[in-house]
Amino acid sequence: MANIVWMQTGACSGDSMALLCADRPSIENLVEHYGLSFLWHPSLTAEHRFGDVLDALLSGREKLDILCIEGSLMTGPNGSGQYDTWKGRAKIDIVRQLAPLATHVVAMGTCAAFGGVHAAGPNPTDCTGLQYLNNQPGGLLGADWRTRHGQPVINVAGCPAHPNTMTRLLAMLAENEPLALDTLNRPTAFFSTLVHQGCTRNEYHEYDIEDNVLGGRGCLFFNLGCRGPQTVAPCNSELWNGQNSKTRAGVPCFGCTSPDFPANRDLFVTPKIGVVPKFLPLGVARAKYMAYKNLARAAAPERVVKREMEP
Ligand code: SF4
Repeated sequence: MANIVWMQTGACSGDSMALLCADRPSIENLVEHYGLSFLWHPSLTAEHRFGDVLDALLSGREKLDILCIEGSLMTGPNGSGQYDTWKGRAKIDIVRQLAPLATHVVAMGTCAAFGGVHAAGPNPTDCTGLQYLNNQPGGLLGADWRTRHGQPVINVAGCPAHPNTMTRLLAMLAENEPLALDTLNRPTAFFSTLVHQGCTRNEYHEYDIEDNVLGGRGCLFFNLGCRGPQTVAPCNSELWNGQNSKTRAGVPCFGCTSPDFPANRDLFVTPKIGVVPKFLPLGVARAKYMAYKNLARAAAPERVVKREMEP
């Protein structure tokens, strides 16, 4: 039996909403088959009150195996945390008290991981992530903070985080499975492919057949702001609700698992240097990319040029 506390800080509840959609495993599976006991989740637990749970944890009467934080950490005004409180207590102080008690601390969603939407400029409430502010290590707990077992905060990035990524990670933690993290402390089991991989518009990307307006069948990279080739996330390899992804539905990837999300630019426009996108697919050299693209466009088969293929 592993005790879990899920606390919301500066959040829109998107990760909790996504959690309800998880099916492999579902929340019920986590409880019934993986032995997770939700001591507290603001929307899912009815038996306990947060104050009682907090007292039990801080006094040592209950153990804390997994602490999940959903939402960015509001440190304003002036470091007091009083913009986000529970019964007058700054939530950042409660997080600081609980984190050292937990075996695992998980940032559920980009806001808790990197600050996310709430920390976007001008960041009037001084929001930050648990161990990062955007891609700068630090955050609320500090770059060197570790659990008593030497683990940093596990960053399950996404706005919201992918439902099955959240529940699979919780199942892995409940089973004490080994966990590898990438350089941003995201679990590599879920963050090792690009959104571009598995996108059904790939053939259009390959031959540089691009759309200028939403609603078409072409690729969304050159004109419509798609960040799929730069974004590490499982969205096209593990479909949302087993059905779909943004790019499959015709919406560009916004890069929501990245520490710089939301980028300070129009989400539906590709920034360019001249006619070339400013940000190229991960690891690709600019000169070679354009040479390849020009050749590919010239070689595009008619069925692709005519956009006959369903994305
Ligand atoms: S729409 Fe985006 S993710 Fe899909 S192929 Fe084009 S660039 Fe890649």
